[in-house]
Amino acid sequence: LFVTFEGGDGVGKTTQSALLEEWLVARGHVVLRTREPGGSEVGVLIRDIVLHHRGEVAPRAEALLYAADRAQHIATVVRPALSRGAVVIQDRYLDSSVAYQGAGRVLGRDEVRDLSLWAVEGLLPDLTVLLDLDPSTARDRLDADDKPFDRLEAEQGAFHDSVRAEFLALAAADPERFLVLDAARVSADLATDIQGRVQLLLDD
Ligand code: C5P
Ligand code: MG
Repeated sequence: LFVTFEGGDGVGKTTQSALLEEWLVARGHVVLRTREPGGSEVGVLIRDIVLHHRGEVAPRAEALLYAADRAQHIATVVRPALSRGAVVIQDRYLDSSVAYQGAGRVLGRDEVRDLSLWAVEGLLPDLTVLLDLDPSTARDRLDADDKPFDRLEAEQGAFHDSVRAEFLALAAADPERFLVLDAARVSADLATDIQGRVQLLLDD
């Protein structure tokens, strides 16, 4: 079972991934919790480029770097874990690329999606949890020394609004795969909704 968490910075993806992992492990499942960018050894190097040299990287180069990170991560970490029967819980996947590289920046969403799908040989999650939150609320949740905060400072509010809108459009286009939750709700209630959906998939 392959579950991904999506949404902007500060919506609670890391918190909800950890709660889901805890819940699954308590029920005897083998879980791999991972993230992109930077979920493989090579990916850590790519993460450094995309996050710390952002201004210098041309948009197509950036899209290819995210795709390379993803290709390496899926081939060397995620697919092996799925074949061992593990539940993979992943913080960000190809929907983040469509939302950030596609909608927010200059590239088209379809080309970014096709590039991502090529990179992972078509692997789509069984479930994608979209934590939806107003970007200004999300920003207040990030602490001052959290790195995403600096990036939020640097990027325009309109950029984060368009990223949010793109995530919602992706979810609306594929309601089978997506569970959209209002991330302003109490964390424990969100976790319960996510567990309910995961349980249904495990029962299948
Ligand atoms: O979730 P995490 O804090 O690791 O994300 C790092 C940052 O990378 C995000 O704030 C986002 O701005 C950016 N990102 C991106 N395109 C992706 C994935 C992440 O621009 N495909
Ligand atoms: Mg996070």
